[in-house]
Amino acid sequence: MQKKTIKPNRLEKQLEKQHRKREWEPHGSGLDVLISTILSQNTSDNNSSRAFKSLKRDFPTWKKAAHARKSSIARSIKAGGLATIKAAYIKSALKKVKADFGSHSLSKIKPKPIEESLDYLTSFDGVGEKTAACVLLFAFGKKVMPVDTHVHRVTHRLGLIEKTPNRQKSFQFWFGQNNIVDYYNLHLNMVRHGRLICRAQNPKCSECILRDRCAYYKERMNDD
Ligand code: SF4
Repeated sequence: MQKKTIKPNRLEKQLEKQHRKREWEPHGSGLDVLISTILSQNTSDNNSSRAFKSLKRDFPTWKKAAHARKSSIARSIKAGGLATIKAAYIKSALKKVKADFGSHSLSKIKPKPIEESLDYLTSFDGVGEKTAACVLLFAFGKKVMPVDTHVHRVTHRLGLIEKTPNRQKSFQFWFGQNNIVDYYNLHLNMVRHGRLICRAQNPKCSECILRDRCAYYKERMNDD
């Protein structure tokens, strides 16, 4: 018998009730989001935000950063950790964008199909599906789901995919779900849900609006 799981559009509405409606607004240019997301890898939001602010203060334009030494960029972003590696990714991204588009701007990918933009962005050093999806969602408002640890956990606990350490399975599940009204709203509320309610340890199922459609919750109840 097929397991009853929640439909993505219903999930969107339910999470909106539990949390709130999130209205999309651009988080910066495509290149701003790309670089801030590279800086956010393997560190806290607070550290990556400090690193990004420092980078923008030291290099007010991406052209200036492109002409800087990697070591100067690494010094500027040291608050975000892994500074040498991230400086190399940033230099390489700036060089590639200039070579491909003639300026330090990713705006030309905005009208392109999502698959094509994902393929393009994941060809950058240090850029995986999640970072590429962040650029498309946060800078351009595209219908795509960045899958972080929270989105992945909520996705498999609800029974939308089997449990697996492979986040790509979640990404594939969320890709092209055409009944989702607003990926931005859903994404931010899934992250919030994962942080506050559906926590990795001790999820607060008794406070969760999704429990009547949650595979993990049903399994736990049957165990008792
Ligand atoms: S019922 Fe529990 S496991 Fe299921 S989504 Fe809610 S908090 Fe997570």
